[in-house]
Amino acid sequence: MPSTTANRDSTLPNIVLVNCDDLGYGDLGCYGSALHDTPALDRMAAEGLRFTNFYMGSPVCSASRGALLTGCLPPRIGFGSFEGLPVLFPGQPVGLPPSETSLGRLLSDAGYATLMVGKWHCGDQPDFLPTNHGFDHYFGLPYSNDMGRQVGTPTDGGGDQPGYPPLPLLDDDEVIEQQPDQASLTGRYVTEVLRFMRRNRDRRFFVYLAHLYVHLPIYVQDRFARQSRNGAYGAAVASIDWATEMVMVELERLGLDDDTVVVFTSDNGALDRPDGGSNLPLRGHKGTTWEGGMRVPAIVRWPGRIEAGSVCDELATAMDLYPTLASLAGTTPPTDRAIDGRDIAPLLMDGAPSPHEHFAYYFMDQLCAVRDERWKLHLARHGEPVVELYDLLDDPGETADVASEHPEVVSDLERVAQDYRQRLGDSRLGIEGTEVRPIGRVESPSTLTTYDPSHPYYAAEYDLPDRG
Ligand code: MG
Repeated sequence: MPSTTANRDSTLPNIVLVNCDDLGYGDLGCYGSALHDTPALDRMAAEGLRFTNFYMGSPVCSASRGALLTGCLPPRIGFGSFEGLPVLFPGQPVGLPPSETSLGRLLSDAGYATLMVGKWHCGDQPDFLPTNHGFDHYFGLPYSNDMGRQVGTPTDGGGDQPGYPPLPLLDDDEVIEQQPDQASLTGRYVTEVLRFMRRNRDRRFFVYLAHLYVHLPIYVQDRFARQSRNGAYGAAVASIDWATEMVMVELERLGLDDDTVVVFTSDNGALDRPDGGSNLPLRGHKGTTWEGGMRVPAIVRWPGRIEAGSVCDELATAMDLYPTLASLAGTTPPTDRAIDGRDIAPLLMDGAPSPHEHFAYYFMDQLCAVRDERWKLHLARHGEPVVELYDLLDDPGETADVASEHPEVVSDLERVAQDYRQRLGDSRLGIEGTEVRPIGRVESPSTLTTYDPSHPYYAAEYDLPDRG
């Protein structure tokens, strides 16, 4: 593997992929927010390309992240549901199997130095952790920041949910802290990223930075809270913006600006709650297959290669990043299995049209909607069948159901849906997909931590009750 200056191929870029947690479509200045000031992200968009029809593979965390890392819609890799649950919880026996070639593995095998920082959420058993998926180094929380000991959570194994063990902070696969000060984490994440970029400035590197913000509970630093016009949520958005500025300034300082592709996006839409985020002008929120649950901000910056100030309205997905970043890095995805992503480098650099005719909106293992360039057909909601058609070009807010006016469009999209069902399944109709690969599973799972009443935790119980 290349590890020296001599081996650096100057035609291949470094890659920094930033993924936020539950940041909504309308939460950034460059996407129309009047509540949040995001000068660094606005600058990134002004110097690069901003997507307006960019989708995650799922409206919830684990499935969305597994899809991002493998280029596959979640059901294809067994990530539709997790033993019947919508996301992974501490100590579950399932996760992203080593047989799947993650983006980290793909780029590591192509000679990149690889770092993952932040929220993983693709399984907390040793087989499933980032260091077993091609990342040379990992620093972060293995799952959501509301899956620790927190006020209001049953912690004695009582109630419907088992209690969560102390929230682990991992360095590679070692728990280095339990119940860490959450307000400090974004700063620590940035430090890890900058140090890694400096150390690897003479070789190609891939950084996957997955923020803990803006997932609940939100603990922020005072300096961001004081300036916020939207409470803790606004402060968390400002923290993300600050982190972006830190990365961009360091790239410039290292002389790597023109040699680095930076991608910024979010794992799913914002929650529906007061003092929270915005998915406007879209309808719906995290956990739904309305546009607001799955259409997210996405900005890509590569000075000299991507035209500054571009806006791309073409249909593109997070799964596309897998083959796209692979091709930019001079490698290709495995050819022994199907993926859903397509190389969208021509969209980024040449204004090409979308390679996708359709997109499928899955929530867990249920196919809930399909769209083409213009129309979106809703098929199911809360497990019940629906037939609703929306014109996404004229009505991106999905306000007027026009199914009865366009029966031919409904039948066309129903045929598209049936094709997805046959390949990737639809649990609502009892259909098992022919192309579904199994989720990873271990025999004797254990949690990464165990509560010890005598341990001097920073916070034995986080004192904010919010979860999300
Ligand atoms: Mg999320």
